[in-house]
Amino acid sequence: MTHHHLPFSPDQLATLAARHPTPFHLYDEVGIRKNARAFYQAFAWVPGGFQNYYAVKALPNPHILDLLRDEGMGGDCSSLAELQLCAAAGIRGENIVFTSNDTPAEEYRQAHALGAIINLDDLSHLDFLQQALGGRLPGVLCFRYNPGPLKEGNAIIGKPEEAKYGLTREQLFEGYRQARDRGVRRFGLHTMVASNELNPQYFVETARLLFDLVVELQARLGLRIEFVNLGGGIGIPYRPEQTAVDLAAVGAGIRTAYEQTIVPAGLAPLRLVMECGRMVTGPYGYLVSRVLHKKAIYKNYVGLDACMANLMRPGMYGSYHHITVPAREGGPRKVYDVTGSLCENNDKFALDREIADPQPGDLVVIHDTGAHGHAMGFNYNGKLRSAELLWQGGTDVRVIRRAETLTDHFATLDFPGLPTGG
Ligand SMILES: *Cc1c(COP(=O)(O)O)cnc(C)c1O
Repeated sequence: MTHHHLPFSPDQLATLAARHPTPFHLYDEVGIRKNARAFYQAFAWVPGGFQNYYAVKALPNPHILDLLRDEGMGGDCSSLAELQLCAAAGIRGENIVFTSNDTPAEEYRQAHALGAIINLDDLSHLDFLQQALGGRLPGVLCFRYNPGPLKEGNAIIGKPEEAKYGLTREQLFEGYRQARDRGVRRFGLHTMVASNELNPQYFVETARLLFDLVVELQARLGLRIEFVNLGGGIGIPYRPEQTAVDLAAVGAGIRTAYEQTIVPAGLAPLRLVMECGRMVTGPYGYLVSRVLHKKAIYKNYVGLDACMANLMRPGMYGSYHHITVPAREGGPRKVYDVTGSLCENNDKFALDREIADPQPGDLVVIHDTGAHGHAMGFNYNGKLRSAELLWQGGTDVRVIRRAETLTDHFATLDFPGLPTGG
């Protein structure tokens, strides 16, 4: 249970919640920075340099992007809004990777205008991109490889052939050849085939697969790959019995793979990049909520003032999020379903979960909401999305996003009698 501690005492939390109405997401800047530094330290050996492009979708708040930029991170974007958030936070040029999948022309144009590295999801996107950009391709391009059914001995990587992303091996060679013939001069190679993976060996295997391919691209096409992008997907220990991925071990394993593939082939130093989102901010976010009601029918229920509007993962994927009741930890425990207020029976943060027995009015903390938490929120039932607060190590917090109001909620309607603020 040790990794689910709060960076502040129950009293500090109570003081905070007296100043800022619940529910809110609270992010720990100190923890995020410390983790970012450990991440970079694990890859300090990379001859061509290492960079993480933070997957913006995990926590699309420019204040967070600004602090990650300060730690040396770029941004991984897949939409116009994400590109604009990066640009506003000072993440520009090749510090942005724009990973396409079913991408409209306008988004390609905006990504190109910002100088982002464009990562293509299909061979056909080469023509599409060229057309979108008025006939010219960017100077640098990356392709997303889908390794499909892998060669024997690579069971760790799972079943990429079920995923909609990327190019097959044949298409990949063809893509680089065509891109080069059309004037592209610099190249990257990308893959991303897992999500929330806790096995460190997985990332080492993925790196080895890509390094082998870099060597083969050099041998078959005489093409130099300048950077390898291992994607994101490093998992976090949502459950108390899980342990965090040992980043130093991942770094060391990838170093060995590098020294056994790229070095003997005599290739120029490679730049290594990743696109981790979840691992970077996930564990440093807390959804703080209050108990509104308790009820006992066929099961026991604790009802919170937060709901799926604030955190969708448990309802949508059945995901586990650890729950603590800071003022009651160490006291009697009891099994509850912990619910929100939507008229949807899957609006539950936990099923049959033993927690420190709370009373109405108590603060409840849902852990690991720093990725895909606030970001996935929606407004079903007219529920509003909460504020986001940033704890920077002092006694107070910065409000980095205010809570939505009903005026915000009705802003797209034009109808008399509603509070639209106009
Ligand atoms: C979602 C995503 C990521 C980040 O995944 P995490 O699990 O947050 O590390 C990286 N790259 C691409 C292309 C993605 O879609």
